[in-house]
Amino acid sequence: MKLLNLLLPLLLLMMLTTVATGTGKEPVELTVDHDQQEQGQFFTVTFTGTTSEPELWFMEQRYRMFRQTGTSWRALVPVENLTPPGSYTLLVRACAHKEQIPVTVTPNNRAIQQITLDSSKAELKATEAEKSRVKAALHTESSEKLFTGLFLRPVHGETSSLFGLKRCYNGGPVESYHKGLDIAAPQGTPVQSTAKGMVILTGTVEEGFQVHGNTVIIDHGQGLTSVYLHLSAITVHEGQLVNAGEVIGKVGHTGISTAPHLHWGTYLYGTSVDPELFEGKAF
Ligand SMILES: [Zn+2]
Repeated sequence: MKLLNLLLPLLLLMMLTTVATGTGKEPVELTVDHDQQEQGQFFTVTFTGTTSEPELWFMEQRYRMFRQTGTSWRALVPVENLTPPGSYTLLVRACAHKEQIPVTVTPNNRAIQQITLDSSKAELKATEAEKSRVKAALHTESSEKLFTGLFLRPVHGETSSLFGLKRCYNGGPVESYHKGLDIAAPQGTPVQSTAKGMVILTGTVEEGFQVHGNTVIIDHGQGLTSVYLHLSAITVHEGQLVNAGEVIGKVGHTGISTAPHLHWGTYLYGTSVDPELFEGKAF
């Protein structure tokens, strides 16, 4: 056991950065930024040394890698918030090169939150149109990386609910978790885009967005999208390119919402991750 304790960090270090000659032509290098990550966070996986897209797998799901420069590829691989803590493997294949990196998922210990909805809103269920349009938008994987630098907070105000809190509705069992960050702000406060991107969805209550309320989703490229819910007004249209800080709508409490606030979410390949991660570090 003691020997293992000594060897394991050394072994992990060797595996986290591996330089090898994969194709016999040029050296390849695979790196992962962390050997462990919390639920609701993500791994940054980079692979250098091939002109064709490497195959990347995590938890039996394939993730697209996106070209950064000539032979350099990257993916931000999400750890879903309800992933059981434990040991997992990141697998990368490129030409003749195949490599596995062991990683650990740790619990984020976010609290259980009791949500009380008044009876008129407790009855509301997402419509099929709402569900399918939101799902399609969140799975957008455009090749071009539009985001740079730190993400902006879309509106200033008190954080009323953190990302990742497990949720009960009206005293029922835990059935979901909070897939974004709630910021309380007065009705009508301008909401800005967190980063540069393309508006890929504007949905309204009239169109059936009963749960999300008036909604904007922005594609920042390379599998990363951001969502803005419960708006009182939308001031952009689908297909519009917006810069970081550009106003996209106004704070409201449409959909399932108990008071005016913005629900701000960030998604990687359709999986929600903690938006605060992008405020603290540029990716
Ligand atoms: Zn929320």
